[in-house]
Amino acid sequence: MRVAVIGGGPAGISLAYFLKGTKHEVTVYEALDSLGLKPCAWGVMRGLEEYITIPRESIISTLKGFKIYLDGKLLYDVRFDHSLGYIIDKPLFLEKLSEGIDVRKKSKVTKKGENLEVNGEKIEAEKVIYSTGHYGLDSSLSIPAIQYLTNYNQDPETVEMYFYSDLLGYGWVFPDNVGARIGIGGYSEVPFLKEKVKQIVKGKTLGFHGARVVDYGIVESRLNGEYVGEALGTVYAVTGEGIRPSIMSSRIMADSILNNEDFSKEFKKSKLYWSLQIHADVIKRAKSSNSTKGLEKVLMRADPKLVIKFALGDFDKTDLFKLFLRTVI
Ligand SMILES: Cc1cc2nc3c(=O)[nH]c(=O)nc-3n(C[C@H](O)[C@H](O)[C@H](O)COP(=O)(O)OP(=O)(O)OC[C@H]3O[C@@H](n4cnc5c(N)ncnc54)[C@H](O)[C@@H]3O)c2cc1C
Repeated sequence: MRVAVIGGGPAGISLAYFLKGTKHEVTVYEALDSLGLKPCAWGVMRGLEEYITIPRESIISTLKGFKIYLDGKLLYDVRFDHSLGYIIDKPLFLEKLSEGIDVRKKSKVTKKGENLEVNGEKIEAEKVIYSTGHYGLDSSLSIPAIQYLTNYNQDPETVEMYFYSDLLGYGWVFPDNVGARIGIGGYSEVPFLKEKVKQIVKGKTLGFHGARVVDYGIVESRLNGEYVGEALGTVYAVTGEGIRPSIMSSRIMADSILNNEDFSKEFKKSKLYWSLQIHADVIKRAKSSNSTKGLEKVLMRADPKLVIKFALGDFDKTDLFKLFLRTVI
């Protein structure tokens, strides 16, 4: 079968990677002239290795520690003797994964009547899958996120996450190969985010960029076998982690294609779906009560290891009970 994948981010490239060497002929169309240009902090959490061999040359550092702050106050400084994840060079990661894959760059796909066209030519494919990220999704389903690249010498093994009582969102300081990626995303306007991020920016600014991040959870109307990745809503809403869950959604899509199964049913059965929806539910509840009090209580009272498990999407019902019921009541 000819498969057209629209969008060459982690979801689109990994989908083509999972289908490589099978009877399916996959072409990825990417609007930009290079892969991985979308603003991102390049953190991938543990578990991705179960799905994909992360190209060694794309690993900038292995993460072993987390610091979590609430309103500037350090709540947890947790170190593990095992890996929590990686900082990757995302463009290099995607370039390496795309080896042997038909990727057409500078190929923005547009709809002309019933047809899909790229650079004036009709796309001929039996199946079309959209991995277009947040682009094309209603902005009410996402939040703005901005990020500074600085020369601050962040410990390469530690990521810092910041939470606030006056912002439904999160800030971060992540290491990278030239210093740090320091940003903030939240349910607010960009000028407020710019002011807020000043509190955590360290080092000399080398660059600044921004994009939106989905915080809605799975967009049910898109659960029709045509969407993967952030275009489907696969971002952990409480932390903004989207690379790993997007790749996981593509694994489910690839398996559905290979086994002739219904993607929607398979996806709904997955732990990924459940955990993404729990994260989204936490955000929806906070939005509807217009307060971050519940989250604050959890952060202040819970066992830090449980908080990390929740952040990583690696929790079960018992963990949820311990985290939310015990701490909020
Ligand atoms: C500032 C910021 C920091 C972030 N940091 C992290 C982080 O550290 N870790 C993490 O896990 N997540 C992070 N995220 C989220 C993460 O970047 C995304 O969730 C993830 O990249 C989603 O992958 P995707 O392939 O679904 O979509 P994307 O990466 O958005 O890729 C979609 C691709 O589709 C292309 N495209 C769109 N429309 C068309 C079209 N019509 N034709 C052709 N191509 C098209 C786009 O150019 C793009 O390359 C961050 C997001 C932001 C904004």
